[in-house]
Amino acid sequence: MIVEPGVARRSLKQEEIQTDLAIIGGGLSGVCAAITAARAGAKVTLVQDRPVLGGNASSEVRLWVLGATSHMGNNNRWAREGGLIDELLVENMYRNPEGNALIFDSILLDKVVSEKNITLLLNTGIYNVQKTNADTIDAVVGFCSQNSTTYIVHAPFFCDASGDGIVGFLAGAAFRMGAEMSDEFDEKFAPTKAYGELLGHSLYFYSKDTGKPVNYIPPSFALSDITQIPRYKTFNAAEFGCKLWWIEYGGRLDTVHDTENIKWELWKVVYGVWNYIKNSGQFPEAETMTLEWVGMIPGKRESRRFEGDFMLSQKDIVEQRQHTDAVAYGGWSIDLHPADGVFSEKPGCNQWHGKGIYQIPYRCMYSKNIDNLFLAGRIISVSHVAFASTRVMATSAYAAQAVGMAAKLCLDHQVSPRALGENHISMLQKNLQKAGQYIPEHRFNDNTDLVNSATLYASSEYILNELSLADVAKPLSVSVAQMLPLGVGAVPQIIIHADADEATTLQVELRIGSKEGNYTPEVILALSKIPLKVGRNCISLDFSTYIRQPCYAFIILQKNEHVRLHYSNDRITGVLSVFNHINKAVSNYGKQTPPKDIGMDAFEFWCPQRRPEGQNMAIKIKDGIAAFGIENLRNGIDRPTTTPNAWVASFEDVSPHVEVTWNNVQTIKRIELLFDTDFDHPMETVLMTHPENVMPFCVRNYQILAEEELVHTVTGNYQTRNEIIFEKPIHTKRLTIKVEHPSPNIPAALFAVRCYA
Ligand SMILES: Cc1cc2nc3c(=O)[nH]c(=O)nc-3n(C[C@H](O)[C@H](O)[C@H](O)COP(=O)(O)OP(=O)(O)OC[C@H]3O[C@@H](n4cnc5c(N)ncnc54)[C@H](O)[C@@H]3O)c2cc1C
Repeated sequence: MIVEPGVARRSLKQEEIQTDLAIIGGGLSGVCAAITAARAGAKVTLVQDRPVLGGNASSEVRLWVLGATSHMGNNNRWAREGGLIDELLVENMYRNPEGNALIFDSILLDKVVSEKNITLLLNTGIYNVQKTNADTIDAVVGFCSQNSTTYIVHAPFFCDASGDGIVGFLAGAAFRMGAEMSDEFDEKFAPTKAYGELLGHSLYFYSKDTGKPVNYIPPSFALSDITQIPRYKTFNAAEFGCKLWWIEYGGRLDTVHDTENIKWELWKVVYGVWNYIKNSGQFPEAETMTLEWVGMIPGKRESRRFEGDFMLSQKDIVEQRQHTDAVAYGGWSIDLHPADGVFSEKPGCNQWHGKGIYQIPYRCMYSKNIDNLFLAGRIISVSHVAFASTRVMATSAYAAQAVGMAAKLCLDHQVSPRALGENHISMLQKNLQKAGQYIPEHRFNDNTDLVNSATLYASSEYILNELSLADVAKPLSVSVAQMLPLGVGAVPQIIIHADADEATTLQVELRIGSKEGNYTPEVILALSKIPLKVGRNCISLDFSTYIRQPCYAFIILQKNEHVRLHYSNDRITGVLSVFNHINKAVSNYGKQTPPKDIGMDAFEFWCPQRRPEGQNMAIKIKDGIAAFGIENLRNGIDRPTTTPNAWVASFEDVSPHVEVTWNNVQTIKRIELLFDTDFDHPMETVLMTHPENVMPFCVRNYQILAEEELVHTVTGNYQTRNEIIFEKPIHTKRLTIKVEHPSPNIPAALFAVRCYA
């Protein structure tokens, strides 16, 4: 028993922690920065004020993680972010294709606690900073209400990933809140005051059907007059969660200090909406439904943005400007919302896409006036307009991976974040690429990779000469394109199959993008109008055109209500069909036609369909396309870009394998293999379900042999990046990697093999 006499006052228990990198905020950005730094060898303390990790992606808010793939609704092909965020999304897909937010929480916790270099402080809110001098932070101070302890975390480097930028704010870092004037960065899309300068918060609810009648009595604070919401007729009994992202409020308030008031207003709306669904009589199907969950903390979109040495702005995104210090990329639309949110007469968002992905430079990721402060998440150094794209979670987390790696290099080289960028940027880029980060326009040249000096041999190489005809014919009700990776030279003759129910003319086009690596098919190289007879037509396409640099060409068939097109069940790494269809969720109406004066481009959308739809066209290609060779394994790009960048085995190969041979015996401690987990698939984390829990292109089973000796076997792989570390290094002149085809319709593929001493 403890008995203490009354005293004048007491102090809290206090714990001091010394760490290499203190990360404040355990949203997806903080998590990705922490794990990246920890795996690189830094001691990390991750401080999160909530009981779970994930921030807006956690079960507390329940937003699905999105990034450059944009729900598969724009022209950014194979654009899912790589490295750690890819590992997390692929893991979630494997364990949780149903999109249960609680499972995603557990995956993030699992990944963080598996890292010995991370000290995780949950339920600990940082509320103070201690400084060494005006430009340098010495420590952050937080309080955990659960164990009544004050933590003082000292570190040479800090990363503010707290969303509102609590550390940057307290430390005196330069920041902005609101929108820039149009002329500051020549941003034609900069909003007017009337539209609003800040995005608001949102709260969600989940409902469920109990199978028996359920009465609902709303709380007194629920909105009683639903017509105060101009778009109230859009509500229905089937939609909940982040599909109702437009239940938004607070864009005209102080989105830091007014958050509690904003939350009450959002609760008022949420309970009012549920009352409308249950008690208005408009939704008889809701009789047996009940509220399953209501958000208790609002999801915050925007508050402070901090100033780094560079501020990304609209033209960087739209013109896809190059930056020598690029370390990440984005590809979500520029997505502004009216500040009046749910009470606005305007559409809930004003979204305009770019023609392709854009680079994010490292200079956006540290404070310009606090020497040891990194920025991660929505607070990075971007204009309000650029923020409207960079803010989404896969993009923020991707940039945060660069911060985690940069922090470790700053420690190693005893330099500031700025000096690292000035003197060691290529080292940062290489270290990131080694960890799986794809940086557009940057090929990975790794001179420590032993595969560079080896001879490569493959048991077979896939030649794309046919996507075999299946029993699938579908009406050509939407224009469709087959994307084909063509090399320099004459476009091969192509044969497709179509049925016509009356004599008609089919318009066929050959198009490519106007910029290398983009997939917006806007340059028409050839166009022909082909007469079709009633019944089966075997159509030979001879474009008589020349391709000047390797690229994806689009064989486009314009829609025709009298035609049914034949498809194939074959699916090949780096080969896709795309459709000129509509995806309203991301403001894709087939064609983007922006007003003239907002600085955005007009173009068509050509996007894949989600499996099990989205088959390739049944097609024959004279002489075939040879783009899947063994040299792709060491070309420094691990996803399709202008070519597939993968070695693909032929269907007929019953024992597909590659051999890596050296003249002399090599000592190998580590091997990396990169498999195809379909970088085109968006992998939304919650609410949305997915048709597979393993991407169908992924090699599940493989073996590695050193000479004739079996040194490693894997069954049931589902991850992109496999790292094999040998307890005892192997000594060999020849490695053989035997892979199994994932399925009879999908040949085995591999993007890279890397070996290290
Ligand atoms: C309603 C809504 C819809 C959106 N839609 C999407 C979408 O569909 N897909 C998508 O990818 N993105 C979406 N976004 C954007 C995205 O969620 C945010 O931009 C993103 O979460 C920002 O990441 P972050 O890590 O900076 O912040 P957060 O995810 O908010 O994480 C910050 C973390 O820091 C913690 N923290 C805050 N203060 C402290 C402190 N003092 N001490 C310790 N910890 C602290 C917070 O609890 C939180 O966990 C949406 C945002 C909102 C609000």
